[in-house]
Amino acid sequence: MKDAAPQTIYLKDYSTFGYIVEHVDLTFKLHPTATRVLSKIRFAPNPDATDRRFFLHGEQLKLISAKIDGKAVAPEMVDGGLQADVPDTAFIWEAEVEINPAANTALEGLYMSNGMYCTQCEAEGFRKITFYPDRPDVMAVFDVRVEADANNTPVMLSNGNGVSKGDGFATWSDPWPKPAYLFALVAGNLIAHTDQFTTKSGTAVDLAIWVRPGDEGKCAFGMEALKKSMTWDEEVYGREYDLDEFNIVAVDDFNMGAMENKGLNIFNSSCVLASPETATDGNFERIEAIIAHEYFHNWTGNRITCRDWFQLCLKEGLTVFRDAQFTADMRSEPVKRIDDVIALRARQFPEDQGPLSHAVRPESFQEINNFYTATIYEKGAEVIGMLKTLVGDAAYAKALDLYFERHDGQACTIEDWIKVFEDSTGRDLTQFKLWYSQSGTPEVTVREEYNGETFTLHLSQKSAPTPGQDEKHPQVIPVAVGLLNTDGEEVQPTMALELSKAEQSFSFEGHTTRPIPSVLRGFSAPVILKQDIDNARRAFLLAHDTDPFNRWEAGRDLARDSLLGTILEGAPHNTAYLDGLKALLCDETLDPAYRALMLGQPSQSELAGIIHKMGHIPDPAAIHTASEALRDAKARAFADMLPDLYAKNQVEGPFSPEAGPAGKRSLANAALALVTRLDGGATASQQYAHADNMTLQLAALSALIDAGKGASALQAFYDQWQSDRLVMDKWFSLQVMHAKPEDSATVARTLTQHADFEMKNPNRFRSVMGVLAMNHAGFHHQSGAAYALLADWLIKLDPINPQTTARMCSAFQTWKRYDAHRQSLIKEQLERIATQSNLSRDTSEMVGRILDA
Ligand SMILES: [Zn+2]
Repeated sequence: MKDAAPQTIYLKDYSTFGYIVEHVDLTFKLHPTATRVLSKIRFAPNPDATDRRFFLHGEQLKLISAKIDGKAVAPEMVDGGLQADVPDTAFIWEAEVEINPAANTALEGLYMSNGMYCTQCEAEGFRKITFYPDRPDVMAVFDVRVEADANNTPVMLSNGNGVSKGDGFATWSDPWPKPAYLFALVAGNLIAHTDQFTTKSGTAVDLAIWVRPGDEGKCAFGMEALKKSMTWDEEVYGREYDLDEFNIVAVDDFNMGAMENKGLNIFNSSCVLASPETATDGNFERIEAIIAHEYFHNWTGNRITCRDWFQLCLKEGLTVFRDAQFTADMRSEPVKRIDDVIALRARQFPEDQGPLSHAVRPESFQEINNFYTATIYEKGAEVIGMLKTLVGDAAYAKALDLYFERHDGQACTIEDWIKVFEDSTGRDLTQFKLWYSQSGTPEVTVREEYNGETFTLHLSQKSAPTPGQDEKHPQVIPVAVGLLNTDGEEVQPTMALELSKAEQSFSFEGHTTRPIPSVLRGFSAPVILKQDIDNARRAFLLAHDTDPFNRWEAGRDLARDSLLGTILEGAPHNTAYLDGLKALLCDETLDPAYRALMLGQPSQSELAGIIHKMGHIPDPAAIHTASEALRDAKARAFADMLPDLYAKNQVEGPFSPEAGPAGKRSLANAALALVTRLDGGATASQQYAHADNMTLQLAALSALIDAGKGASALQAFYDQWQSDRLVMDKWFSLQVMHAKPEDSATVARTLTQHADFEMKNPNRFRSVMGVLAMNHAGFHHQSGAAYALLADWLIKLDPINPQTTARMCSAFQTWKRYDAHRQSLIKEQLERIATQSNLSRDTSEMVGRILDA
């Protein structure tokens, strides 16, 4: 059977499935190349449905036998599944199919990773396991029996609670109705790091993180993160865990970060395994956040799921918002907010301003795998944040209580979600709902007026056309504003203005001296703010703004304008920026992690986007030169204080991944990067020699590569870590990330010839090819070598792993920003990919959308 032919699916065509699934029994007889799956499913006619066609999804399945009510039947095989004539009343469907996990390199359905059986069913992987109505609105209770060779496969896990196990088998029962995308099975030679958690109401839950032998020393941090997440969800959202056990498994070959299968979360090993020697502070923070995210899905995603895949943001936007709240509570709220906005601008803004732009709830798709995007996840989370700002914290909490109460056990829509807020607040949210349907990044322009007493902000909004949406309507935009006096004191604390018209004015009375506004505090909406203010004002806000986000933003705007001046007009760097920054770096009342963020500057890719929006053609080489020159200027301007800053932020004592010491290391390492520009790598060599954790070791190695002295350290690093796959991913990516623009393609090509390069492992593939696309000046080098190299490898990967290939095509999404020469080079590569025979549905859709720009 072949895959279904490419076909566009529309939200407006939704209809209910004709049958209710009352119960599912599955038996797996595991074998690497010939696994048998026996299903016994009780169906009953759905009284709410009009269409009674009995269609079951199924792809890449060998049907051995099928029965209805115990009698053999011969169903009709159709595109993407089968159909059969069935009774008018409840009936039992039975089928036996054979699948080949070892041949499954796409990593969807049941596959093998290093000798271990593993599943990934979201979004539509279950149809590669057995015939089933594989759609999220069909929820059912599952019982599962797993049988395997007890010697090679001693551990067999599935969803829910373990019921029984013995030599060569295990049975599992999940009492909670769930859609098939939450089904999971893992079996192999695994060992567990175990613990226990007692819920608020007194239920003891057995916790386990399952890993391959040898990795058991890297689980302790993940386990702590899990327990913190369970406590936090009880305290903040009143949500308790609902099974007797909770299992996490680390898998090396995984397309995504992690998956929230009911009671059996499956993680990309990079998102759960950590030890101080092998993981950076950034890895620790990410692991904590992803464990929380997947755990929080137990309520926002699993207990309340999505009616159809158009509603993906219902679970993802809300859960990303919840995990961001968690990280802010565990660590630093301003630092988390700044990190998230940096990521939003780096990943979501280019998506929303290019050919792949789509609404937070899209209206159509060909391949749902292509919609696991920054827009659905990160912009989806911003929409929740705006809603909370508009209704207030208390009303948000009340609405969430109602959401859980009203919709537990249901498959829901955005309309259900919005209705909960309308019912609990009495507010009409019709206009707010545009955030779910209108794509693109709105621009908000600010103009100020002052008459000696009244200070007025004139705000206006507009959105550029995006694919399929020429006409835009004004949206409800919460613009958080505070006012300062010239001494830097707050004369108007933060309040949210509601901009809902194309143009609107907001007045503040009783100001006998002209106040200084701080606009879009905390980045209260995912918009581009246009404010015509001078460097002196920005420097004032950098020194005095009482909102930590906007204080950082003032520095970032100064850096941006300084860089744009250099790139577009050859102007020297802005001394107001360097002076203001220097004062902040010395301010020891400020969190080191926050000061480290202050030292950053807009990325080269972000600058290219800004230059394009200004109506110019970005030159990647000029952007690279100016960015490096600004870093050199910082090193020179701060030369007298950098050694002290570096020394003061060394951390004594045993390693802790907590926010405090991690923040000090991030500031010390930011100082090291600048010091290296002055001392040629002397300090970095010392740090490399004495580093006792990965954060320090990797920062020193990066600095040495930048200083042109990385060769021997790279070899030493390889010799030390070659048996650790996750650390080797860092070794690969670092070399591509720090390659000079003219060398990037060659460095990447050489690494693909390395004995440890494995294209079938998504982490390893991304560590070279994904990072090449992120090295802006290298990827866009005028030779076009990097474009061709990436296209070569995407063509090779597509037949093996369409999902990862399609996602990486987005490296080309910004192609229309660049000059005619680069555009023609990229177009040639996109067309080369598009004309491959047997191109996957995933990649074909992505390349088509990008070429349509
Ligand atoms: Zn998620």
